[in-house]
Amino acid sequence: MSILVAGGAGYIGAHVVHDLLDRGEEVVVVDDLSYGDASRIRDAKLVELDVAADGAQRELFNTMVDEDVSAVIHFAARKQVGESVEKPMWYYQQNVGGLANMMSAMRDANVGNMIFSSSAAVYGIPPVSVVEEDIVKTPINPYGETKLIGEWMMADCERAFGLRWIGLRYFNVAGAGSNDLGDPAILNLVPMVLDKVEKGEPAMIFGTDYDTPDGTCVRDYIHVSDLANAHIAALDYLTSGKEMEYHTFNVGTGKGTSVREIVDGLKQVIGRDFAVEELDRRAGDPPQLIGDASRITEVLDWHAQYGVDEILQSAYSAWQQGPRPIA
Ligand code: UDP
Repeated sequence: MSILVAGGAGYIGAHVVHDLLDRGEEVVVVDDLSYGDASRIRDAKLVELDVAADGAQRELFNTMVDEDVSAVIHFAARKQVGESVEKPMWYYQQNVGGLANMMSAMRDANVGNMIFSSSAAVYGIPPVSVVEEDIVKTPINPYGETKLIGEWMMADCERAFGLRWIGLRYFNVAGAGSNDLGDPAILNLVPMVLDKVEKGEPAMIFGTDYDTPDGTCVRDYIHVSDLANAHIAALDYLTSGKEMEYHTFNVGTGKGTSVREIVDGLKQVIGRDFAVEELDRRAGDPPQLIGDASRITEVLDWHAQYGVDEILQSAYSAWQQGPRPIA
């Protein structure tokens, strides 16, 4: 029996692949390597495939049968908010189409367990700063919409053919489980600050006039190793056969950290001051977005082990091993 990890060569997926291999699971990674890196998956089997491509459903089915797959962890998706606004149909084709291929193959191959990478983006700009899973969900961009649709698709498949599924709604993921597993993309706050510092340019703060304690946006930062561990907890829960009262879980800490606190934290970790430019608000940013973690703690017995200090320390340490260390 093996676990199929779609998108397993990516930043978060590779952390989960390592955890699965460490506990002796057979792992087959399906990844198109557009962002993923084959060197990150150790000796797991790799099937190079875009899950949204024509013919992917058949190839996924064959892989599931050949590898005796018992569960799927589905990371494979596009995840850039701005790009999703510019190319909405491509996001639907990739994220929704890819998931449809995966679940059709699962139905045909009788694979009954699915863990799906959802996102706090399903909440859009919520009416409260600490969000529980059941509040109204109004995503404000195609990326978030594809994630909410993904959850609906899995609920539909549960009704249609008994799929057992969990959607994990990630909050702000950062850090690295080891120096070779850092986030290679420069798309989120922590890598964006490190990138600017390395280039000798000022780090950017988007908006200092929010109604928050220090005027900058507040987010719930989660260490990627903790997030990986939440997938293992979810997998154990799914495969335990227990009756499932809940399917969606926030993977957050219940604690908020401001953009300014992250920037100041990075100054501490790097060990020196650096220039910071205070810019206008970025469109579409909710002032505060924090995940209530009660449900995942109670049901999956999961809670974050690491705090912001370890997140920043590990992100910096991995950055320094990469191609552009900060001098
Ligand atoms: N942010 C910032 N400067 C940057 C990158 C991000 O001030 O160089 C802010 C962004 O406006 C948001 C927060 O940091 O308030 C987290 O942004 P990120 O893109 O990492 O994640 P998001 O919460 O948007 O998913």
